[in-house]
Amino acid sequence: MPLYEYLCEACDNAFEVTQGFNDAPLKNCPKCGGEVKKLMSLGGFALRGNGWFSTDYKKNPNENKGTSSGS
Ligand SMILES: [Zn+2]
Repeated sequence: MPLYEYLCEACDNAFEVTQGFNDAPLKNCPKCGGEVKKLMSLGGFALRGNGWFSTDYKKNPNENKGTSSGS
């Protein structure tokens, strides 16, 4: 289960919630009911995910060209 970190913009309450991928993100602070924003608590995980996606996306067309003209 991924762990999400939220920060309440109203009372500055930072808290972590364990949610499944299919769970809707929290919108309200459990303390004051104010609006919360999601923080990237697993920064490394998110960065790696993005990096993997972008490099893979860029790599695919090149690899296709290389293999077709290679032999
Ligand atoms: Zn709050």
